[in-house]
Amino acid sequence: MNVYGEQVTKLIGELSSLPGIGVKGATRLAFHIINMPEEKALSLADAISSARKGVKYCKRCWTLTDGEECSVCASPNRDHKTIMVVESPKDYAAYERTGKYNGVYHVLHGVINPSLGIGVSDIRLRELILRLEQEDTEELIIATNLSVEGEATAVYISKLVKPTGIKITRIASGVPVGGDLECVDEFTLLRALEGRVEL
Ligand code: ZN
Repeated sequence: MNVYGEQVTKLIGELSSLPGIGVKGATRLAFHIINMPEEKALSLADAISSARKGVKYCKRCWTLTDGEECSVCASPNRDHKTIMVVESPKDYAAYERTGKYNGVYHVLHGVINPSLGIGVSDIRLRELILRLEQEDTEELIIATNLSVEGEATAVYISKLVKPTGIKITRIASGVPVGGDLECVDEFTLLRALEGRVEL
C-alpha cells in the first residue's frame, strides 16, 4: 500500500514497529508529524537521534546514565556487597523510588527468552559474572520479573553463581505473576524484597 507515497509509507512503517502502535495509530501519528511546523518535526527527529547516539551505560551496573558511573554505583553510602539483578533501568528506578534499598544494582537489559531469540549472550550476564569475579559480593538478589522468562533466567543465574558461594536470593511473590515491576506499587516491591528467599 503505497497510496501516500514512498516516504510517508516508510514513516508509517517505522512508527508502527513501535510497541503498542498499530498501523492505524502509526498513520495518525505520521500525518500529525508531516503537518507539524518543520522546525518542530526536525526537533523531534533530533531528540530521537541524540538520545540514541548519546546513550551511555554505567560501567559497573549497566543502567542508563550521563556519566561513567550512575549515582548509586558512585555513592560511598551504598552497600556495594549487595547486588540486585533487575531486567531493566525501569526496574532499577522502581526500587530506587522506594528509597529503602541500600544495595547496588545490575541491569540485565532483558531476560533469556528463546521464543524471541534472546539468548544468554544477548543480556548483560557475562558482565555480571565478571563483576562478581572482581568485586567482593556477599548477596545477589535476583529481582527479574516473576514471569516464566524471568523465573527461568533467575534459575539460570543461580546455577551459574552457586559455585562461588555467594548468597543468592530471589524476591518473593507478592508482585503479581507476570507483572512488570515498574507497574507495581512501592509497598508491594518492598514486601517482595523483604520476603526474599534463599535459592
Ligand atoms: Zn551503576
